[in-house]
Amino acid sequence: MDVVVEPGIGWMELNEYLAPYGLFFPLDPGPGATIGGMCGTRCSGSLAVRYGTMRDNVINLKAVLADGEVVKTASRARKSAAGYDLTRLMIGSEGTLGVITEVTLRLQKIPEHSIVAMCNFPTIKDAADVAIAAMLSGIQVSRVELLDEVQVKAINLANGKDLPEFPTLMFELIGTEAYTREQTHIVQKIASEHNGSDFVFAEDKEAKKELWKIRKEALYACLAMAPNCEAMTTDVCVPLSHLAELISKSKQELDASPLLCTVIAHAGDGNFHTVILFNPEDEGQRKEAERLNNFMVHAALSMEGTCTGEHGVGTGKLKYLEKELGTANLRTMRKIKAALDPNGIMNPGKLIPPHVCL
Ligand SMILES: Cc1cc2nc3c(=O)[nH]c(=O)nc-3n(C[C@H](O)[C@H](O)[C@H](O)COP(=O)(O)OP(=O)(O)OC[C@H]3O[C@@H](n4cnc5c(N)ncnc54)[C@H](O)[C@@H]3O)c2cc1C
Repeated sequence: MDVVVEPGIGWMELNEYLAPYGLFFPLDPGPGATIGGMCGTRCSGSLAVRYGTMRDNVINLKAVLADGEVVKTASRARKSAAGYDLTRLMIGSEGTLGVITEVTLRLQKIPEHSIVAMCNFPTIKDAADVAIAAMLSGIQVSRVELLDEVQVKAINLANGKDLPEFPTLMFELIGTEAYTREQTHIVQKIASEHNGSDFVFAEDKEAKKELWKIRKEALYACLAMAPNCEAMTTDVCVPLSHLAELISKSKQELDASPLLCTVIAHAGDGNFHTVILFNPEDEGQRKEAERLNNFMVHAALSMEGTCTGEHGVGTGKLKYLEKELGTANLRTMRKIKAALDPNGIMNPGKLIPPHVCL
């Protein structure tokens, strides 16, 4: 139930390798992402609602520090109370503390059976309310993905599909065949209590694979819909109880904007993305995209959320960290950085705002 890999392997290649063993690694970020980058960003994806993020799925790792020291962060045991948790210090550090060279990953058994259930709603708030109610019902969903009507339209255009162009939820339910059916009925009941309609299921292996593929490639569908545009993707995350409020507030702002915007959410985690399409040569459009992004980040922060649920800080989100985390937090990060990388050679300029002093 674990595997040792080097950081350059992609999660998709790894899962191809693992499939004959009946196992898989349950983190599914961008199609080309590698384990090293996934550790760097503390990534997640559609399955995090069931299996946790990269933080929960790395048992130990090996890293080369700035002074050349090679450190192994933990043993192969599933849990340990031995000292500081250096594994989790490195996960999400965006290459600012060392270079990860080997990773031991926790694996999962491929579920015996799964059902993909899809349902449409008159408003995006209804869809968000159902995602929250499904989580509160205690059923063990493995995916709860939300798409707005613009995103569904983009998917239809890019893939020659005819999905109803309404706010849509996609659930994945896993377990034994009987258990997945029982869960599907519970989800259907919850959806119908919130104006859900067109409840459809997929059980055929190829049909399910295709649905998740088109969901995973949603960003490319947006770019195909607006070929001369660039996409600015926001990535905020709030406590689940605030998700419907955040999505409704954001959707109002997006619909009022002259830019083409879509909504995609890992709704079961309260993680919400918008794809804002803008012409990079038009300064006004770029500014409008930045304004929308800013609006959503501040809305999320006002709801005890975060400026990045999974994509990371890089340099673009440095400006939000002080408001989210406070100065004492950032000073502590700066002290850790100074202790491990005193000459600032590991991804300088990333993750810690430059004005934070020791
Ligand atoms: C279509 C699409 C869908 C996406 N969906 C999701 C999603 O659902 N969930 C999600 O979390 N993300 C998603 N992403 C974002 C992206 O896939 C993730 O951020 C992913 O973790 C990046 O992996 P990468 O290999 O491309 O890393 P890179 O972008 O190459 O690197 C990421 C960071 O890690 C550092 N790093 C890389 N390798 C190492 C190493 N060996 N040691 C130390 N640091 C290292 C880099 O310096 C950088 O700071 C999506 C992206 C796209 C394009």
